[in-house]
Amino acid sequence: MQPGHFPANILFVIILVGAMAFFFRTAKELYRIMRLGKSEERFDRIGERIKGVVSYVLGQQRVVREPSGWGHFLIFWGFVIITVGSIETFGVGVYHGFAYWKFLGKPLTAFLYLLQDLLCAGVVVALLVALYRRFVQKPERLRSSDQRAANLDATIIIAFILVLIVLLFGARAVEYLLAQGDPTRYFPTAAFISVAFSPLFSSLSTESLHHWYAFFWWGHTLVILGFLVYIPFSKHLHILGAIPNVFFRRFRPVGELTKMNLEDENAVSFGVGKVEEFTWKQLLDLYACTECGRCSENCPANLTGKPLSPKETIHHLKEHLKAKGKLMLAQPAAPAAEGAANPGGELERPLIGDVCLHDEIWSCTTCGNCMEHCPVFIEHIDKYVDMRRYLVLTESNFPQEVQGVFRNWETNSNPWGIGFATRGDWAKGLPVKTMAEDPNVEYLFYVGCSGSFDERGKKITTAMVKLLNQAGVSFGILGAEEKCCGETARRIGNEYLFQTMAVELAGIINGYGIKRIITTCPHGYNCLKNEYPQFDGTWEVYHHVEFLAKLVREGRLKPAQGLDKRLVFHDSCYLGRYNGLYEEPRALLRSIPGLQHFEMDRSRAKSFCCGAGGGRMWMEETLGHAKINNARTDQALTLDPDLIAVCCPFCTTMFEDGLKARNMDEKVKVYDVAELLAQTVAP
Ligand code: SF4
Ligand code: SF4
Repeated sequence: MQPGHFPANILFVIILVGAMAFFFRTAKELYRIMRLGKSEERFDRIGERIKGVVSYVLGQQRVVREPSGWGHFLIFWGFVIITVGSIETFGVGVYHGFAYWKFLGKPLTAFLYLLQDLLCAGVVVALLVALYRRFVQKPERLRSSDQRAANLDATIIIAFILVLIVLLFGARAVEYLLAQGDPTRYFPTAAFISVAFSPLFSSLSTESLHHWYAFFWWGHTLVILGFLVYIPFSKHLHILGAIPNVFFRRFRPVGELTKMNLEDENAVSFGVGKVEEFTWKQLLDLYACTECGRCSENCPANLTGKPLSPKETIHHLKEHLKAKGKLMLAQPAAPAAEGAANPGGELERPLIGDVCLHDEIWSCTTCGNCMEHCPVFIEHIDKYVDMRRYLVLTESNFPQEVQGVFRNWETNSNPWGIGFATRGDWAKGLPVKTMAEDPNVEYLFYVGCSGSFDERGKKITTAMVKLLNQAGVSFGILGAEEKCCGETARRIGNEYLFQTMAVELAGIINGYGIKRIITTCPHGYNCLKNEYPQFDGTWEVYHHVEFLAKLVREGRLKPAQGLDKRLVFHDSCYLGRYNGLYEEPRALLRSIPGLQHFEMDRSRAKSFCCGAGGGRMWMEETLGHAKINNARTDQALTLDPDLIAVCCPFCTTMFEDGLKARNMDEKVKVYDVAELLAQTVAP
C-alpha cells in the first residue's frame, strides 16, 4: 500500500475524514458542555488578548519561569513543527507526488527539514527527562489522587509522541535514500539527523526501501490520527483548552471578586452549588489545566497538609463537568429516559460535599499563589469563593466559629464585636483630626478594624500617624464614623453582608468628597482600591508602604538612626501578588541604615501566606500536619533573624503567634515597616 497511490489514497482519505470527524464531534460536545455555564463578558481588549497568546502560548512565558518548563517549551514547539510536517505527510497520502519543495523551493524546505530534525531530537530528550521525573524523581507536584490513572495517561501520551518521532525519522531516512539519483524527489542533507539514520537501510534494494517507506509512513500517519482522537479524553485536552483560556484571561485585578446580583427575584439560589452554575469561562478553565501541579506546589494549604490541592480541585471539577454535561446535553432529546441516561448518578452528584469537599473549600486562604503560577491563567479563587457564597447565602452552612464574627460585623462593624462608638478611641491624645472636624484635608487615613481595635494593630496606626505628621501630610480619619470595609466577609462568602457594608462605607467616604485614601491593611487596601469601584468608590488608594516610600524618596522623611539588625521581610499576599507592591517595602527597608535584609526562598511572587487571608483568620485551623503561620515562621527562622518585617496587621498577629509557638518570641520581634521607619526617622 504505497502512500498516495490508488487505492491507498482512498483508504487514507477515509481514515483521515473519519478521525477528523470523530475529533470535531468530541470537540463540539466539549464546547456545548462549556456553554452550559452562565454568561460572562470576556470579549473586550482583543488586541491585548492576542498579544497575551503570543507571549504566554507561543513564548510560553509563564511555563519557562522554572527550569523544568524548558522541556515543555521544546515539546510545544516540536509539536507545532511536527504538525507543519504532517501537512506534507497528509498531502503525500492523497497524492504521492506532493512535496513542500515544489511550493516553497529547496532552500526554505531544507531549513524547515533542519528545524524539524532539531526540534524532534529536542522533544525526544525532553520526553525522556519527563519520564525520568515522573517515574524516578516523582516530584510532589506530579502527585495525584489517582496516581495510576495519571501515570497511565502521561505514559500513553509520551509513548505516542516518541513512537511518532521514531517513525518520522525512519520515513525520512528511507526517503533520503530513495531521493538519491531520482530527480522527481528531493531530500535536503541539511536534515542531518534523518540522514544519519539512513545507513541502517542503505543495504536494502529499492523495492525494499519502498516497503519500509510505506511502513513508516502509515505508522506515522496512524499514530498522529490516533493521537488526535485521544486528545479530548486525556489530560492533553489542554492542547484545545489552553489557547482560548489564555486569550480570554481576566484583565480585572486579581484581587477583585465579582459583584453578585442579590436583587435577582428569579434566583432560586445564590453562589455556585452546581457545576453548570459557574460561568462559561470558569468551565473553560477546567479544559485548560495541564495538570502540571505548579498551583499545588505553591499552595500553603496543600503544603501544610490540608485537604486542598488546587490541581485536584480543577481535575475533579473537569471530570464531573464532562460526565454531567454529557448527560445534560442528552436530556432534552430524551427526557423520558432520564433514569437510564444517568446510570452513574452524575446528574445528581452534589458539587459541594462530593466533587469538592467542604474542608477543601474552606481551607483556601485566597493567597493567590495558585493563580500566580498557573501557566494557563486558571482562576481558582473565584471558584472557591463562589462555592462559599452558595454555602453561606443559600444553605447557611459555614464553619460554626464564623457565626459570631458575622454577628459582630452586623452589630458593631468589626469582627470582635467591640462597640462601634469606640472605633476612634485609639486617637485620643494624638495629633489627629477627624473628617468631621476638618473635611478639607488631602488624604483620608482609613484605619481599618485591626488598626482601630486590636492592641497590636493600634501600635502600627500610631507609628503611621507619627510619620504622616512628621512629613507634614494633610490627613484626617473618620473616627467613630469609620466602618469595616467588609473584605473578609466577602471572602468568606457573605456577599450580602459585604455589599451592605460597602454601600454604607462608600456613602460615608463620598459624603466627605474624599479623593485620596491611605490605609495600613493590604486587605482593606485591595478591597477599597479594586472592589469599591463596584460601589461608586473611585478613589486613589495607597497602601502605607507605597505612600511612605514616596515620602522617603521626596526627602520628607529621613531615616537617620541606624538599626544594626538581621531582618527578614515577609511579602503580604494581598500587597505583592494581588497588587504588585514588592519593591516599595524593600525600598523603605533599604533606606534604614544598618539593617541587614535577608530574603526567604519563598518571597515576592512566591511568598508563602501567613494563613490569615480569605477569612481564615477567624476560623479554627485544625487540619493538616502544621499551622500555616507556624510553617511560615519556620521559613523565616531558618535565616536566623532578629526582626521579621511585615506590612499587614494580620501578618503581624500570625507571625507573633508563630514565634510564641516556637518559643522564639523573646529573641525575634515582629514589626510593621511603618513601625521600623518611625523608630529611625529624624525628628
Ligand atoms: S489561593 Fe492560596 S490557599 Fe487558595 S488554593 Fe490557591 S494557593 Fe491554595
Ligand atoms: S491549575 Fe494551572 S498550575 Fe494547577 S495544575 Fe492546572 S495548569 Fe497547572
